Amino acid sequence: MKGIAGKNAIITGSSRGIGLAVAERLAAEGANIVLNSNVMEVDTPLIVELSEKYGVKVQAIQADVTSYEAVEKMINKVKEDWGSVDILVNNAGITKDNLILRMSPEDFDIIVDIHLKGVFNGVKAVYPLMMKQRSGKIINMASVIGIMGNAGQANYAAAKAGIIALTKSAAKELAGRGVNVNAIAPGFIQTAMTDAIPENEKAKILASIPMKRMAQTSEVASVIAFLASDEASYINGQTIVIDGGML
Ligand code: NAP
Repeated sequence: MKGIAGKNAIITGSSRGIGLAVAERLAAEGANIVLNSNVMEVDTPLIVELSEKYGVKVQAIQADVTSYEAVEKMINKVKEDWGSVDILVNNAGITKDNLILRMSPEDFDIIVDIHLKGVFNGVKAVYPLMMKQRSGKIINMASVIGIMGNAGQANYAAAKAGIIALTKSAAKELAGRGVNVNAIAPGFIQTAMTDAIPENEKAKILASIPMKRMAQTSEVASVIAFLASDEASYINGQTIVIDGGML
């Protein structure tokens, strides 16, 4: 896709799952890649694997997205090492599901902190850099759950809905500076996160998806690559749903 080769991309939560698939896809398009997670090994074998396979620069940075200082440090390091941050994919996330009746206030807070505050931290830290560059692509990970709600996921749904609103607001602030800010809202994707769903629940979910299957991570990564490319240059403030027709 046009405009990705040679760009520097940070993908939060890219030690596995959707984030890793996005890192691979952007590397395949020629971007230099920064892998990140909360327990990222700075010498992860993924560095050699991706750099040899795709001929791009790769580094891994441990940073907890709930910490503004850690996220800012990561973004500034990439700017110092490679000269710019062109693509930021705010993807890191976990779930702590329970009915509101049984959900602890702590489990509400941690989900809002990782998802919504994590996205805020990434957008805020990269904002001055991209503003000065007068270019940049920010893609935030929402979810269809943030649009439709889900019993047992009030914390996650609220955080993801917040990400959609934050995305629209950031797009309005940065559009005049040549920066595109968009979100994606996947349905159910085959990863460790959905592997944890009990089999009987999974059967119910599959029955509610017109395509009768979960998506592969590569089917999400290709949409993120599109949004990170010059081919999506006039898309701003949007949330693209990738859910096999479920919503
Ligand atoms: P996953 O396989 O569990 O991967 C989550 C990633 O986030 C891991 O790399 C994890 O690494 C990292 N992470 C967790 N907490 C972090 C923190 N505090 N700071 C930095 N990194 C952190 O999950 P996934 O399914 O790929 O999900 C990725 C994103 O897609 C999430 O935002 C999720 O809500 C969203 N999503 C997923 C689905 C789905 O069906 N799978 C659907 C819609 C949206 P460590 O644990 O090593 O830190």
